[in-house]
Amino acid sequence: MKITKISVFQQTQPLNKPYWLSGGRLKFEQLDSTFVKIETDAGITGWAESCPWGHTYLPAHGGGVRAAAELLAPALLGSDPRKIDQINRTMDLTLPGHLYAKAGFDIACWDILGQSAELPIADLLGGHYPEPTPIASSVSTGTPEEMLDLIKEFRVRDYFVHSVKIGADSAMDIERIRHLEANREQGELIFYDLNRAWLPAEAIVVMNKISDLPIIFEQPCETLDQCLAVRQLTSHPISIDENLITLDDAQRIINDRIGEILNIKISRVGGLTKAKRIRDIAINAGLKFLVMDTGGGVTADTATQHFAQSIPSEMRIGTWLCQEMITNDVAPGQGSRNIEGSSQIPDGCTGLGVIPDETLLDDPTAIYER
Ligand code: MG
Repeated sequence: MKITKISVFQQTQPLNKPYWLSGGRLKFEQLDSTFVKIETDAGITGWAESCPWGHTYLPAHGGGVRAAAELLAPALLGSDPRKIDQINRTMDLTLPGHLYAKAGFDIACWDILGQSAELPIADLLGGHYPEPTPIASSVSTGTPEEMLDLIKEFRVRDYFVHSVKIGADSAMDIERIRHLEANREQGELIFYDLNRAWLPAEAIVVMNKISDLPIIFEQPCETLDQCLAVRQLTSHPISIDENLITLDDAQRIINDRIGEILNIKISRVGGLTKAKRIRDIAINAGLKFLVMDTGGGVTADTATQHFAQSIPSEMRIGTWLCQEMITNDVAPGQGSRNIEGSSQIPDGCTGLGVIPDETLLDDPTAIYER
């Protein structure tokens, strides 16, 4: 089987409402997503989506995905998409780094591999665990009362895992956490996500002030070195999110005992192939997982669910569906959706299980063929 044609599509995805994070210093109103369609001489077509969360959150932006495609797509034409490690090696030799820009090509090849094997991607990743994954809410920074109101809205929709964004002011953060924990319901799990907003001095003071509370913090500070300094002087489990990009990062988090949880965002780490390598060493080290993507709609979310369900359920804390924060949907009725606060791969799917409706996308921004 050979790749004969690759088409790249751009889609602007307006958010339902403006969203702030990292202590309110970053504001987002729309996302810039890229869809990759890979066609083969066997008549099998693979799809994927890669969408950074804006351009201020990480060293990644929508235009970067499409610029990298100008180099990556021609290099992949003629390759066998089922030989996915080789596909990744070709991409890494063609353009070192730029992992987020490679994810769409990697995932579209997994879609083709799954269709040709007549198995869902989750099975090809090692085996599909049937338990669905709880969807974590995403609670924007506000006053303690405003944030509890947002959690109540999510409760109505059966969410019991909440990703609460804090970090605007460390004294206020203590109030926010105490208020939300005092009102936490039985069975609910809240993790407090700083998105790098604290300096180590603030993190150490706040976390030690509330050391009586059995809670989890995510990405308290800007760098792994700063998170390590915090981890050594505090007692709460820490999830590493933005600083987890490469397999080396994962190895360091494990070896230096920086965190107990990895938040794997599929496109940030370069797609499913590279996410799988991180998964395997982290399972061996006894870590837990959050599995998400940085942005996008149901196409990206569904790839995420395949990966999540390749992890034993007792190691999975939760996932997130960005599709619920954007106003457009390229595959109505398809893919992984929110079913009573959890999500799972589509019933009976082979490959990814999502085929975007091209009439809902603009014309391709580029077509590569041989
Ligand atoms: Mg996070």
